[in-house]
Amino acid sequence: RTKIIGITGGIGSGKSTVSKYIEEAGYPVYYSDIRAKNIVNDNQHLQQLIKELLGENAYDEDDLYDRKYVAEIVFNNEELLLKLNSLIHPAVRIDFENWVAQQTTDFVFKETALLFELKLNKTCYKSVLVTADDNCRLKRVMDRDNKTYREVETIMLRQMPEKDKVKLADFVIFNNEGLEELKAETKKVLAEIESL
Ligand code: ATP
Repeated sequence: RTKIIGITGGIGSGKSTVSKYIEEAGYPVYYSDIRAKNIVNDNQHLQQLIKELLGENAYDEDDLYDRKYVAEIVFNNEELLLKLNSLIHPAVRIDFENWVAQQTTDFVFKETALLFELKLNKTCYKSVLVTADDNCRLKRVMDRDNKTYREVETIMLRQMPEKDKVKLADFVIFNNEGLEELKAETKKVLAEIESL
């Protein structure tokens, strides 16, 4: 039976970078966020449900999900956002199950920003948290996305505090140093997981 390892972390923690290292080491990684972005276009049933919830304008003239429009109408409408997520999340869950069924390795990894928030850790064999100090994450995301301090801070404040995630995680990778150190830490955790 395939063992699922969840990888998570707050904005700018380095979870995508860690996931890339894990892929380079030969393990399959499911990127929930990227898959979700495809599913809203590819899953016809989901597309129908989203249009019923948000209107035809949720998709553009080419029938592609209009992320900007959707962000605008769910912004400051918590209830609508929850409803939208309650449509998208189960579809991603099913997509993940289908993906896992196709894998042949002993371990597979699932990268998701919402591992603990959605209690997806309960469906994982182990969880890996990538974390770094807030200042460090702020600076990295400002550089990466060309966002202001305030913009990144607003997103950070909406997420589950890192100290709560640390308590829930089986493995914690601290990413306050450089990329070489991050890669070395990732290898250490992989070795520990391999020995389970
Ligand atoms: P998000 O949730 O915002 O997508 P993430 O957790 O996936 O973020 P990454 O994209 O992996 O984080 O990292 C954020 C940015 O910081 C990237 O531009 C990445 O290259 C850079 N970065 C990550 N770790 C380090 C490090 N140790 N040293 C320098 N830059 C780093």
